[in-house]
Amino acid sequence: MRIVVASGKGGTGKTTVATSLALTAGDSVRFMDCDVEAPNAALFLNPKLDTRKEVGILLPVVDEALCTHCGKCAEVCEFHAIAVIGKKILVFPELCHGCGSCTLICPEKAISERLDVMGILESGMTISGIDFFQGVMNVGEPMAVPIIRELKKWNGLSLRATAKQSPNESGELLREGHNDMIEIRDAPPGASCPVVETMRGADFALLVTEPTPFGLHDLKQVVGITRELGIPAGVVINRDGIGDNAVEAYCTEAGIPILLRIPMERRFAEAIASGKTLVDTAPEYRTAFQTLLQDITASVAA
Ligand code: SF4
Ligand code: SF4
Repeated sequence: MRIVVASGKGGTGKTTVATSLALTAGDSVRFMDCDVEAPNAALFLNPKLDTRKEVGILLPVVDEALCTHCGKCAEVCEFHAIAVIGKKILVFPELCHGCGSCTLICPEKAISERLDVMGILESGMTISGIDFFQGVMNVGEPMAVPIIRELKKWNGLSLRATAKQSPNESGELLREGHNDMIEIRDAPPGASCPVVETMRGADFALLVTEPTPFGLHDLKQVVGITRELGIPAGVVINRDGIGDNAVEAYCTEAGIPILLRIPMERRFAEAIASGKTLVDTAPEYRTAFQTLLQDITASVAA
């Protein structure tokens, strides 16, 4: 089962919820920090990161000696990332999505590819046995989606045998939608392409919001994505009590269940600021998170 923890807005407590859910979800958990521009879940879960892989897109490289300037590569490129002007051929790396179509279509085999490194993928295990994965995008890179896409496909476990499963088993189990393993994806903030890519293929979206007009505005945007992708969703209201009832009214009207409320408490804010998880700070919340997981499981099964 794949659960995405998302929020249209940054700073709502998404990582707080995702990490506590992971810590209470049993002994077969895969945690994926998809907020590749600013991953921070590792600060709370403290994995020992022992596996790394460079990641990026394959950019076309044209061999001018072989090119006949037929223009077929430019015709096939829907992103206008390659252009043929007279006897000149130009590649615009910042527009290229690394789809490989130009390489495939070139009748002269004049195009080869080079990896343009955009960031790294890292994986390791936490002391509590969570298989942890994160993507880290290089500063200044314009596109997070290729890194998230690779992170979702990557089975870093293949290089690290676990006591629970054989090295190659985990990825296969997830690809087959096996329910024994729970994958928790911590999504980037916002409601643009990186969030859509993180949600794609998920079984459930847990949407974290706060009871304020800003929280409601951004919740509506991220609900729109879940509906577009056909993913069932539930809401966690964080900092409950600070605002109004508009989020609650919206959820009722939209038919989205509110699965958990976390009140605004100073001790939570202080603990999270010092890198502690919610369930370590307030162990009484373990039961609430276990119930949350049961509700999600029931919703997915239904
Ligand atoms: S398709 Fe190949 S031969 Fe034709 S213009 Fe592009 S690189 Fe040159
Ligand atoms: S790899 Fe794809 S996006 Fe990049 S130039 Fe070729 S066709 Fe265009």
